[in-house]
Amino acid sequence: MAIIRFTALTETLNRKPVNVEMPADKISQIYATNVFGKTAMKQYLSSEAYESVIGAMEKGIQIDRKMADQVASAMRAWAAEKGATHYTHWFQPLTGATAEKHDAFFEPLDESRAIEKFGGSQLVQQEPDASSFPNGGIRNTFEARGYTAWDPTSPAFVIGKTLCIPTIFISYTGEALDYKTPLVKALHAVDKAAVEVCQYFDKNVTKVNATLGWEQEYFLVDSALFNARPDLLMAGRTVFGHIPAKGQQLEDHYFGSIPDRVAAFMRDFEIEALKLGIPIKTRHNEVAPNQYECAPVFEEANLAVDHNQLLMDVMEKTAIKHNFRILFHEKPFAGVNGSGKHNNWSLGTNTGKNLLSPGKTPKTNLQFLTFFINTIKAVHDHADLLRASIASASNDHRLGANEAPPAIMSIFIGSQLTAVLDELVAKVKKGKMTPDEKTALKLNIGKIPEILLDNTDRNRTSPFAFTGNKFEFRAVGSSANCASAMIVLNTIVANQLILFKKEVDALIAKGVDKDEAILQILKRYIIDSKKILFEGNGYSEEWVKEAARRGLKNIKTTPDALDVYVDKKTLQLFEELKVMSHREQEARYEIYLEMYTKKIQIESRVIGDIAMNSIIPTALTYQNKLIQSVAGLKEIAGASFKTLSAPHMEIITEISERVATIKKNVDLMIEERKKANKIEDAKNKAVAYCEKVKPYFDVIRYNVDKLELLVDDEMWPLPKYRELLYIK
Ligand code: ADP
Ligand code: MG
Repeated sequence: MAIIRFTALTETLNRKPVNVEMPADKISQIYATNVFGKTAMKQYLSSEAYESVIGAMEKGIQIDRKMADQVASAMRAWAAEKGATHYTHWFQPLTGATAEKHDAFFEPLDESRAIEKFGGSQLVQQEPDASSFPNGGIRNTFEARGYTAWDPTSPAFVIGKTLCIPTIFISYTGEALDYKTPLVKALHAVDKAAVEVCQYFDKNVTKVNATLGWEQEYFLVDSALFNARPDLLMAGRTVFGHIPAKGQQLEDHYFGSIPDRVAAFMRDFEIEALKLGIPIKTRHNEVAPNQYECAPVFEEANLAVDHNQLLMDVMEKTAIKHNFRILFHEKPFAGVNGSGKHNNWSLGTNTGKNLLSPGKTPKTNLQFLTFFINTIKAVHDHADLLRASIASASNDHRLGANEAPPAIMSIFIGSQLTAVLDELVAKVKKGKMTPDEKTALKLNIGKIPEILLDNTDRNRTSPFAFTGNKFEFRAVGSSANCASAMIVLNTIVANQLILFKKEVDALIAKGVDKDEAILQILKRYIIDSKKILFEGNGYSEEWVKEAARRGLKNIKTTPDALDVYVDKKTLQLFEELKVMSHREQEARYEIYLEMYTKKIQIESRVIGDIAMNSIIPTALTYQNKLIQSVAGLKEIAGASFKTLSAPHMEIITEISERVATIKKNVDLMIEERKKANKIEDAKNKAVAYCEKVKPYFDVIRYNVDKLELLVDDEMWPLPKYRELLYIK
């Protein structure tokens, strides 16, 4: 058995970096060359067709059939020049991965003739079988068809020999079965609501884009070692493995130098990313050994989400070329830092202004405060929903662990902005304020940019932190599709901005001056949202107690976190803002529960299999060696036999005890699994997996990891943590 491990180690140690041909050109010359973006469109489309795509991109105007034909044929011509022979609609089903179904650019005319073909109808719509994707019961067999429909706001691109067209994915009956559909709707809602509020400050604002800059963390493991770990292969994380003697305690990995093999991999995927128009910019080591991060420049949120999904795919493929496997799992190694995907979020206007960045005048700063405080209020009122948006079986392993953001939602804003809000509460008076009071207030608001300039306040333990000109949602999991968090965040902010506008308008109608009306409402929001603001250490035990005292929830598991998705208040919220219908939301809830159950079920099987097929047999073989050794000692040792064989006997006994415990708990776990599998209701089934099956993981692991320390290293079947994490 151990042969697998040692072969893998030998292979790993002999690796050389794969040679990456650096393009001779500058980055600016390769950037977006594989994207059918504005430049390519200008070149390949008639001006009429170009305008119609731009109209669709910027104003959501429908593209008519004739134009679609033109766009399709231009797209094909462009893609063919890049060597593409096939096309696919590229979409994001709720599996969390991306999906594609490739078709060739041709149509047979008869047995001997074919023509190159790609028309408007192929561009605009395709019909993959929806029954093969999670659909939460939205379909019965005769409605199994689903549609993919072109999303012109995200440009088509070529990967390898395939033209990929970003699309939404909906059921035959029109319900969203993907991440993109509700995301686009949520972004539309926040655009509309924010534009309305902007009118108080600047009439030139006609469009507000949510912006997203994600930071993707990941681990790399040599592919040979990866292949020798059935748990990594099946579940994406190690279910066993004792932490190595050297973990993170020396803190020597973060921002350390990047090993050559890893650097070659990074260069390779970055080149591919840049060609795809993904503005990848930052790379560095992360805190844990073999952990890294990359981040692009932020973009409009829909595009940023597509780019993240696309890049994860590119990274996975590139890693394999470099004899690595990439781990996007939130917690691949116990006792070692997990991975997240920080979502930096803000709102940007068509006038080039970041609404979460203070300006130079009291007026622009009042605008800043408006969006800043409304976001806080939205998060305060819908903290549970935000928590649900990041819930997954894999993120459960990370949230609340002592180096990850806690499952308690709170916001960090820094001491200076806290002071600004306190002052606002103290100084804004109900009823009419004197001119002096107003001037004093304006003067203070005017000072905000200076405050933020030297604001070096950073809190790495907050799940939702303000970082100078944007909020950073840090609890998003590294394997997640950011759309899930972005749908919720943009929807709750849209909703909040609508409420705000209503309240301010009501005061203005009563004759209150506009600025005063805004300040009065903001003051109330600050008071109402106070409990969500937290500046201390989010990883501490005291915070857990303090949060409970404040009435903030600490929802630890996915099945519980998801409940709020089908709460009456939520269903209404999504429906009112036209983001999702009740049916869509309920289907999604079922899908998420099913995903959870399946993930835990797979982990549980992997644990059982490895424990029974690899660990116990290895431990017993080693024990047998010891028993033989004891028998040998008995023959030669005479009077000193007892003393000499004592250590052997201790190990023999410990192995027997641990093996018995493992066996007993695997059996009990399988029993619980059988019971859980009989449950029909998705929620109850997920709860059974969470509360009845999952608790066995720890006790089995504890005993297996103890055996790892005890059994002859030469016999141990699984690559160990020190091998997975330290061999470059
Ligand atoms: P840090 O000090 O955390 O590295 P950066 O300014 O480099 O801060 O930003 C980190 C991330 O935030 C990057 O991915 C960046 O693109 C993103 N970001 C910056 N400004 C915005 C914005 N206005 N909207 C969304 N994301 C942004
Ligand atoms: Mg960050």
